[in-house]
This record gives sequence, C-alpha cells and structure tokens, in this order.
Amino acid sequence: MTPIPDIREIRGLEKVSRLLEPGADTRKGVRDRVLAYTEEFLGKIGEIRAFVFPHDGGVGILNDPIGEDPVPIDRLLELVRDNIDLPGLNPASGGHLAYIPGGGLYNSSLGDYMAAIMNRYAGAYFGGPGAVRLENMLLDWMNGIVGYPAGSSGNLTSGGSISNLIGVVAARDASGLKAAEYSRAVIYLTEQAHHSVHKAIRIAGLGEAILRNIPMDARFRMSVPALGAAIDQDKREGLIPLMIIAAAGSTDAGAVDPLHDIGEIARRNSLWYHIDAAYGGFFVLTDEGKKILRGIETSDSLVVDPHKGLFLPYGTGAVLVKDTARLLESFHYTANYMQDLIPDSTAHSPADLSPELTKHFRGLRLWLPLKLHGLAPFRAGLAEKMLLARYFHGRLGEVPGFEMGPEPELSVVTYRYIPRRGDPDRFNEQIVRETQKDGRVFLSSTILNGRYTLRLAALAFRTHLDTIDLALDILKHTVKKLERSV
Ligand SMILES: *Cc1c(COP(=O)(O)O)cnc(C)c1O
Repeated sequence: MTPIPDIREIRGLEKVSRLLEPGADTRKGVRDRVLAYTEEFLGKIGEIRAFVFPHDGGVGILNDPIGEDPVPIDRLLELVRDNIDLPGLNPASGGHLAYIPGGGLYNSSLGDYMAAIMNRYAGAYFGGPGAVRLENMLLDWMNGIVGYPAGSSGNLTSGGSISNLIGVVAARDASGLKAAEYSRAVIYLTEQAHHSVHKAIRIAGLGEAILRNIPMDARFRMSVPALGAAIDQDKREGLIPLMIIAAAGSTDAGAVDPLHDIGEIARRNSLWYHIDAAYGGFFVLTDEGKKILRGIETSDSLVVDPHKGLFLPYGTGAVLVKDTARLLESFHYTANYMQDLIPDSTAHSPADLSPELTKHFRGLRLWLPLKLHGLAPFRAGLAEKMLLARYFHGRLGEVPGFEMGPEPELSVVTYRYIPRRGDPDRFNEQIVRETQKDGRVFLSSTILNGRYTLRLAALAFRTHLDTIDLALDILKHTVKKLERSV
C-alpha cells in the first residue's frame, strides 16, 4: 500500500508552483515592459550600429547567475540590453551586409508569441492536426514555387545545416549502400560547398566516403563536363557514385551551379541530386531569380532557409524532398508509447520526416507574415536586393583601385582593393577591421583563388539604397584614410 502523502504538503507546494501562472495584471505589467523595450529597439533600428566590437561583450550575464529568487523585469531587460543586444553583430540591422544576412520580421515574433502560449504540438498529426496541416501547407507552397511535383514533402527545420543533414541521410539510405561500402562511395561537390555539407556528411556516418571536388569555372560554378568525366572515371575504377551536391547561391561568391545540366548528369547516372539553396532558393520568387535557378526542380532534395531568403528570425530552415517515401524510410519510427497515434494518410507528421519528435511549432512564425503581408513585398524585397548588389558592383567599380569580382548572379558581390603600395591582402584585411570599428555597416571577407577578398551580401530586409550608398561612402573613405597611413 502506498502511504497517502500529507495533503498540507501538497497544498504548500501548490502555492509556490502556482507562481508560474501569473494573473492578468502581472502578465500585463511584464508584457508592457517587454513591448516597450522592443519598440524602443525598433524605433532606433535605422541608427544603431550593425556591429559593435565585442571586447568583453556579454560578461554581465555571467555575473548574474540563475538563483532561487525572482528578479524584476526591468533588471532583466537591462541585462539583455547591455550584454546581448549591444555587443557584436546586430542581425536585425539593414547594415548587416556580411556572411549571409538575417532578418527578423516583426510579424514572425507574433506568430512565435502565439505558438509559445498555446504550445500546440506540431510533431504529430494526431495531437496537432491543424498545426501539422499548416506546416505541410507551407512545405507544399515551397515545393510549388521551386517546381517540385505535388506529393513531394519535406520538413521545416531549425536551419540549413539540419536541412543538409536530412538531405544527405535520405540520399545515403536511398542508395542502399552498406557501411562496408562507404569507403568506395563518391560524393560530388565543389570547394565552394558550405561547411555544413561536410559536417552533414560526417554526421551521416559517411566520413570515409570519397569527396570529389569538381573543378569550377571562373565564376566558381561547377564544371559540368568535369563532373561527367569524374563520374565516368570513378565507375571505371569500381567506385560507387553516391550523390551530387550542387549550390544555388554559394556562401562565398553567391555562385549558382548549372543546376539544369547537373540534373541531366544525375538522371543519366541515377544519382541522388541534392541542391543547397539555403541562401539562394527564395530568389525563385523573382522573375530574374527564376531564370537563374532554372533546373532547381530536377533535384531530389533541396535546402532553403526562410531565416535567410524570407527574412524570418533565426531558427527556420526547410528541406524539400521529392520522393516522400525516401524521407519516411530514413526517419519514420514507431514506439509502444505512441501506439495511440492514429496516422492520417492525408497528412504526414513532421516527426516521421525528420530527426525531431517534439519541436518548435515553426509554421506559425512563417505563416503569419506570409499571410499578413501577402507575397508581393517578399518578391519586391528579393528583386530589390539583386538590384542593390548590381548597383554596388557598378558604383564601386567606378572607384579607382577597386577590383571587382564577377557581376553578381544573386546578391553577393566580391571585390578587393589594390593599394598603391604594399601587400593587397593585408590592406584589404585592414579595410575590414576599419569598417568593423566604424560599425555602421558590417562587411566580411573570404579567400578566393588564394586571395583575401571582400564581400558584400544584400539580403537583410532592412537593406535599401541608402544602406548601400552608406557602404560605398564608408569604403571610399576607409581606403583614402588607409592609403594615407601606409
Ligand atoms: C547559411 C547556409 C547554410 C547553413 O545554414 P544554417 O541555417 O546557418 O544552418 C548552408 N548552406 C548555405 C549555402 C548557406 O548559405
């Protein structure tokens, strides 16, 4: 017999645990402070810097450890302001022109707000039929815009890295290869593949597979003849071609591989064709982008990142997979404690199509802004960024000393400055440091063909013509200043 616990003890604990359910007035008090803080941030977003050198950034958080006692919201907002929202990169700024910029649509935050309060279960259809249908509808929409046929599926993920992982795992399982054969399996990509692709290959257990870096043309796009020749050669040598991974918008140079022609080769050789379009995929919403991304629909799996190309806050990626059966084969599991779930043939559950079970209801943060705004401002924003990149390329090209990379395909521009004297690599490194100290815009660099190269990426939804003019001014001013000092 279980002894009955003391009711007074239960009641005592209840009294304290009920503190987790603040009343309407308390909720309003906290909510008002949080809203005031975010409104203040948005009110200044045009002026605050895109980058603040971090020095000892954020240490104040460590001085305020988790403890037993409540802390008032004003103190917490102070901690957030000084330690989180001030130092480092401000991805909400239009001046974020580095790496692949982020965004943070306001209406997404309201979707998240609702998702957190109602906390609907978006992992399985049985528990959250509407939530699952909403996510599937968004995936259907994405499948539609890239030209995948009806019946394709996919998953809303946390980002491009997990999307790449899901694609690589699906390809691995579809190949039917045994682990003992992995060391003879060949994956075709280029040196420009995002490092998350390499990470995915290793996590997927394919670390022993042969990675065949296919030569690229002068614009860093995979050479199709070289790809065909490499596959033929590998087959002759008894190796096992496994998959091709192309990029639709490489991170370094924004290059789009010849998607259509690579698709032809994949089809002829019955190879899984994966496209990493984490950066470039949503340009398909523009007329120009659609032409550039021609052939994207010939892939078997495809990564797009709404937290890049749809300007969402971080934490929303997507993988699209043409053959739903492949995805189910890799990710569908059952368990005794899930026996009450009644499957529905009209709606696949995200948990059956990805490594996750319980997950953030990401659909709402994507659906709300798409529906509230309609698609027109998204299309315009993306077309605008492509033109801004061309504008920057043309304008900076007029400035003596700047050597411009190829005309941008999407919205990444590469360039470098050739100083009158001294080492160009070092000089360009100084340009980056100087502009970061200034912080009104944030630019980054990479190495292309062994040379230190500057890049500008326009993708933040708050980046407009005035931002690009500011970046041009800052660059001109910086090189003048540095030329004087060398
Ligand atoms: C950003 C990016 C990734 C990684 O995506 P995350 O969302 O950062 O995980 C992969 N590939 C490309 C081309 C990217 O631009």
